[in-house]
Amino acid sequence: MNRVSLPPLPYNYDALEPVISETIMRLHHDKHHQGYVNKANAAIDKLEKYRRGELELDIRATLRDLSFNLNGHILHSIFWPNMEPPTEDNTPGGLIGDKIDEFFGGFEAFKKEFEAASKTVEGVGWGLLVWDPLSEQLLVVQVEKHNLMHIAGSEVLLALDVWEHAYYLQYKNDRGSYVTNWWKVVNWDDVDNRLQKVI
Ligand code: MN
Repeated sequence: MNRVSLPPLPYNYDALEPVISETIMRLHHDKHHQGYVNKANAAIDKLEKYRRGELELDIRATLRDLSFNLNGHILHSIFWPNMEPPTEDNTPGGLIGDKIDEFFGGFEAFKKEFEAASKTVEGVGWGLLVWDPLSEQLLVVQVEKHNLMHIAGSEVLLALDVWEHAYYLQYKNDRGSYVTNWWKVVNWDDVDNRLQKVI
């Protein structure tokens, strides 16, 4: 079976300041994301031994570990390149700009829905913008943990991590300010490229 590995950040650890601090980025990328990579690989190791008949396995527990940790790895691998150094007037253009206008009625209306989804995730999770190829539309999705409430088969275009490890050292319990500030660091070219590949 294939193993996964931690991708390097596409910018320096301090590149997103003052929106996201260097300290958060170092911990978040080097410790938390690495942890999901390690635990996903541990689940894959177990499954490989199970397939060879070398290990009895609690399949339910192992597949739960695989789903949680591999999805954690996948979502963080989208989250990092979804961001770039901050700009004040940061708005989407290109195809993603057109599609946001088409489906949400404008960028402000989209922001309102995405912020509401991200701010109200119960416990830990993500706000996502996805393209569902079956219904052929953009959807805002709220994901709990890394894997619950996800839309099967949808392509993740934009991911916002609202686990406390993503903001607590800087924003304390004020998830709302983190979410509002985060728009400054969204890399809309990256989001547009992801849409172009799947539409
Ligand atoms: Mn995270």
